[in-house]
Amino acid sequence: MSAAPTSADWVARSLRSVWHPCTQMQHHETVPLVAVSHGRGAWLYDHDGKRYLDAISSWWVNLFGHANPAINAALRAQLDSLEHAMLAGFTHQPVIELSERLSGMTGGVLGHAFYASDGASAVEIALKMSFHAWRNRGLPDKQEFVCLAGSYHGETIGALAVTDVALFKDAYGPLLRPARVVLSPDARGAVDGESAQDVARRAAADVEALFAERAAHIAAIIIEPLVQCATGMAMHDRLYLQLIRALCERYQVHMIVDEIAVGCGRTGTFFACEQAAIWPDFLCLSKGISGGYLPLSLVLSREEIYQSFYSSDVTRGFLHSHSYTGNPLACRAALATLDIFAQDDVLATNRVRASRMTAALAPLRDDPRVAHFRQQGMIWAFDAIEADPARAATFSRRFFSAALEHELLLRPIGKTVYLMPPYILADDEIDLLASRTRAVFDQVMQGSAP
Ligand SMILES: *Cc1c(COP(=O)(O)O)cnc(C)c1O
Repeated sequence: MSAAPTSADWVARSLRSVWHPCTQMQHHETVPLVAVSHGRGAWLYDHDGKRYLDAISSWWVNLFGHANPAINAALRAQLDSLEHAMLAGFTHQPVIELSERLSGMTGGVLGHAFYASDGASAVEIALKMSFHAWRNRGLPDKQEFVCLAGSYHGETIGALAVTDVALFKDAYGPLLRPARVVLSPDARGAVDGESAQDVARRAAADVEALFAERAAHIAAIIIEPLVQCATGMAMHDRLYLQLIRALCERYQVHMIVDEIAVGCGRTGTFFACEQAAIWPDFLCLSKGISGGYLPLSLVLSREEIYQSFYSSDVTRGFLHSHSYTGNPLACRAALATLDIFAQDDVLATNRVRASRMTAALAPLRDDPRVAHFRQQGMIWAFDAIEADPARAATFSRRFFSAALEHELLLRPIGKTVYLMPPYILADDEIDLLASRTRAVFDQVMQGSAP
């Protein structure tokens, strides 16, 4: 009888046949690949029984832990009634209930839900809908899109065109229809004693200058509200969202908010927009909406958008077909996720968790090798001051490897270390995460000039 495969066996097989995302495969000659055998709560386990605290919610999707009993039970029940049915000409209870509940959570303002499976597709849908809505209203020249410096909206060709992360975009530049890039309201950009609100005003003025000149050609501006996550957890003041909402009204430009990463309670309210007391014309959700269980994304839109497509003419209807639209299992996982929010008063308990975490991370905030310690809801981030360019270039990979040695799954973005844990950490897990993050940082920074 042969022994059960070890983690090393699985890793070797994976490297031969699986092409991993967001990865230079050759780096796996030195950077470890972890073969996950199972998950429980905030922890992932490999085939050798080693455990890792999932401090980034498995790429920001897992809200209530792995193998969550409530979501598991809901999915098992759904499996026995309906796994999937097409959503053209047919409908079903999970997609209806999910749409109604999300509409209700926006006070009915964003009352129409269109479904896809991944975040990038939700962005594609919002862009297409915006353009097509203007065309249906007799304004076919509104074809351009505006995005923020450092924005990230996904990596399909259309979504990549409104993404401004050089690493992801430059290689494919010739394939993309260029978007107009405006200043980021990133509060780290403050100069001469500016406050975060001053930066927000300056960034909004940049948008106003563009709108004043080109609004007749601009369909929409797309924004990650409060936190531009993928560029390195760049945070901005809510004032920015209010100023942009007002500019969009004045200049007749759609506002698309991409809440794929920041929605579902991540910033402290269910939707990040709620903190600015505004609603956009389109709101994109994905990642956490299914609790991190199944691929699901959606675009919520306003009545007037919906009405601009409502017609006897097929070509005035929204033209976007996707096989798994509104998949019942994924919608059921989302409903179970929303049930947990409602039953466990998650946003309130997260405030308690967040203040404990912020206190536990205070030594890092005060560390002279740390810049821009920042927090928003259940996101913490800081930038390592690493002057040596060679060390800075490998900081993220070195940190990831050192974190694994300390039983943490942490994956910095460049020199930005961030925590985005699931909403279930117990006090001892919060303390462990904070103290080990410090230990990893100390280890990785050793030998670098202060
Ligand atoms: C992750 C992300 C996307 C893309 O979602 P995918 O499911 O990875 O395609 C889009 N926008 C934001 C803000 C994201 O964080």
